[in-house]
Amino acid sequence: MTAKILVSACLLGRPVRYNGSAKPFVHPALARWQAEGRVVSICPELSAGFSVPRPAAEIADGGSGENVLAGHARVLESGGSDVTTLYRTGAEAALALARTENCLFALLIDGSPSCGSSFIHDGSFSGTMRAGAGVTAALLRANGIEVFAPTEIARLEQAIMRKQTD
Ligand code: SF4
Repeated sequence: MTAKILVSACLLGRPVRYNGSAKPFVHPALARWQAEGRVVSICPELSAGFSVPRPAAEIADGGSGENVLAGHARVLESGGSDVTTLYRTGAEAALALARTENCLFALLIDGSPSCGSSFIHDGSFSGTMRAGAGVTAALLRANGIEVFAPTEIARLEQAIMRKQTD
């Protein structure tokens, strides 16, 4: 079976980030997967009902995406609004799409409270990062989907090749 990859919409050039920007990721492997019809685009935050632009949000309470899913941390906007439920909704939408499309892998932008897979903001809205995953990345991993950041695309390529020779 052709391995499909769930990819953050902003990495594909869609201007869906909180500030209306995109973060296009240009790489020959990603272009090849797109041409092969393997790429499934998702913006968990738009899927949850957020619009563009929207306030910045971070995982508070020193927490991670795993903590949010366990009910031990909240996602707060810069103005203090609690958007935890919407972030969980976005993560569940991403998981549902991954299952529908048979995505075994995900390529998500790092640093986001949804899509971050190796680092996230620390909750202080000061630009400080710390190790940890966002809510969507954590939920995908908890359900057996391998999540990679753009810096790990070589590892993703190897994982896809291994899957195809299984
Ligand atoms: Fe990009 Fe993910 Fe944030 Fe959407 S939720 S803007 S796809 S990082």
